[in-house]
Formats: sequence, C-alpha cells, structure tokens
Amino acid sequence: MGAILVRRQIGRLGSARRRSADRIAELEAKLEAQAALIREQAVSLAHSQKIFDRSSAAARIGVWQCNLADEALHWTDVVYDIFDLPRGSAVDRRQTLQCYTAESVAELHARRSRAIAERTGFSLDAEIVTVKGNRRWIRITATVECEDGVAVRIFGMKQDITEEKILGDQTRYLAEFDVMTGLANRSQFQSRLAGLTASQPDCPAPAALLLVDLDGFKQVNDSFGHAVGDECLRQVSRRLEDACAGMELVARIGGDEFAVLTGPDLDLASISELARQIIDRLGKPLDYRGNSLKLGASVGIALIEGATLPELLVSADTALYAAKAAGRNTFRIFKPDSLASLPNPRAA
Ligand code: GH3
Ligand code: MG
Repeated sequence: MGAILVRRQIGRLGSARRRSADRIAELEAKLEAQAALIREQAVSLAHSQKIFDRSSAAARIGVWQCNLADEALHWTDVVYDIFDLPRGSAVDRRQTLQCYTAESVAELHARRSRAIAERTGFSLDAEIVTVKGNRRWIRITATVECEDGVAVRIFGMKQDITEEKILGDQTRYLAEFDVMTGLANRSQFQSRLAGLTASQPDCPAPAALLLVDLDGFKQVNDSFGHAVGDECLRQVSRRLEDACAGMELVARIGGDEFAVLTGPDLDLASISELARQIIDRLGKPLDYRGNSLKLGASVGIALIEGATLPELLVSADTALYAAKAAGRNTFRIFKPDSLASLPNPRAA
C-alpha cells in the first residue's frame, strides 16, 4: 500500500516538473519574442533618428531645451553648428546670449519672460554673431513645459535662416529701390503716394510733390554713350539727395525723372527755395573721368493739400511741362486756376 502511495506521489511530482518546464519554455519564448520586438524597435528608432538627424541638418534646424530652475541648456548638434561651438560641449546660457545683437537679445528676453509668465510659447527671428565672428539670422520657436501648473522647462527649435533673410532683404530691396541709383523706385513712390490718401491724423501729409526732369539728357547719351549717361544719373541722384536732405522721399520714377515728397511743415517760400536748390545743384557741371558735363533740370510742383492722388501727379506733370516750355532750368508751381511761378533767378 505504502509503495503505491509513493509511486503516485512520484508520478505527481513528475507531471508538476513537466508543467513547470513547459511554463518555463513558454516564458522563454515570450521573452525571446519581446527581445526580438525590442531589437526591431531599436533598429526602427535608429533609422528614425538617422532620418531626423539628416533632415534636421539639411534644414539647419536644431532642437534646444533649457531647464528654468538652473538654466541648464541641452542642444542638438545643429544648434552647436549654428553658434559655431564644438558639438556636445558644455554651454552656458549667459555666454550664448552674448552672441545675440543688442536688439535681438532685448526682444528675446521680452518674449521669453512673457511666454514663461503666461505658460505659452513664442517665435522670433534673431540676429547673432557667432564666436567665430559669423553673422547669422536664426528663427527661434519656443514652448513652455509645465509640471503641476508650474513652468519648469522651455524648449523648441533653432533654425539658420540667414540665406532666407538675405534673399528676402534683396527681394524687398529690388521691389522698393532703383538698383542703378540706390534711390527709391517708382513702385515705392507710388505706394507712398497711395498712403497719403489714407487719413493719418497723427502723421501730417507732406506739403508738396516735386517732379524733377533733367534737361537735355538724351544729348549726353547720344554724345558720350549710355554708360556715361548712367554715371550722370548716379551723380545726379547723390546731388538730389543732398539738396533734399530731411525730405520724406526722393525717388527715381523714370529714365531721367525724379520725384520728391517734401516734409509736412514747408510753406510756399520754402518749397520754392527747395526747387531753386535742386536746379542749382543739378546745373553744376558733372565730372566723368576728368571730363566736365553740363546738365540742367526742370521742376514741376504740386501742393498736396486737398488734392487727390491722380490729380496730384497730373498737376505736378503739368507744372513740369510748363517749366520745360518756359525754357527749362526753372520751376513752376501748379495752382488749380492757373500756373503760378515764384521768382526764380536761374530763369531770369
Ligand atoms: P528734355 O530736356 O525735354 O527733358 O529731354 P531729354 O533730352 O532730357 O530727354 P527726355 O527727358 O525726353 O528722355 C529721357 C531720356 O533718358 C530717354 C532715354 O534715352 C534716356 N534714358 C532713360 N533711361 C535711361 C537709363 O537708365 N540710362 C541712360 N543712360 N539713359 C536713359
Ligand atoms: Mg529729360
């Protein structure tokens, strides 16, 4: 009897061992499956990291983070590259702030403080000069991270936008300035004129529009060639700028035609004096490689008060035509009823 019991117990022990072995094998298989999954995910993560690093480098976008408690900074490689600092080196926030221009650091400080106070974020285009002396524009985006309602971290991206900024500045320049003379171009002049029609109580309109056209300019081109004509236009532009110092706008609006918008506080006598100054300065001989070239200028003036935009240009043009008809090298002021001219010694 006893022997039977012992055999049964041994039998039970044997099947328990088999069950345990099965369980262990099952757990080992699960572990292996999980390990395989982790390996797969590690490969996938490494691949994603490679793609992120490559696109981040190509777009010149880096990621940064700053702990608010101790101001400790963490940067990815691209941010180091933007600041010309060795990748992975320890960065001190106070030192990196010294790379920002005064205007940019003031703006950065204001926006960052506001974002932290309001637990929001900001975006800012800032100018830096790196430790190697390279001047760069960077686009900073930032988000404040909170724990239990308290701002603990600020993080975001920094992108090198220097090329975009230069291209944008060049495009804006080409849209608004005359490349040959550096003066405002016709398009800028027209938008300034259009702006005058909008009521601006705090900003009084200029007193007058002066149209200036060179006398006998074609002759310079015909006698000396286009390049000499271009040089004359450049020299004339500098003289016009000098004569019109303090005025609102000096623009080249056509071949040898220029426009001046005066300041708001000029009376008729001052406007006439300005026209005389322009005629006087443009009438002095120009120098081209030791040769003296003589030009002249006629000026048509329209007073801005009460005039509408199309009227203004037509009026100034009518006055200019009258100045040309009066023998050139003189000016005329448009009056709605008649053309009035103040005494002009050059015309006498
Ligand atoms: P007026 O005394 O009646 O003003 O005649 P003008 O000889 O000054 O000639 P006008 O004002 O009628 O025409 C301007 C000339 O300027 C026509 C054109 O050949 C020349 N011109 C226009 N643009 C340029 C330019 O960019 N460079 C040069 N060199 N000449 C130009
Ligand atoms: Mg002309």
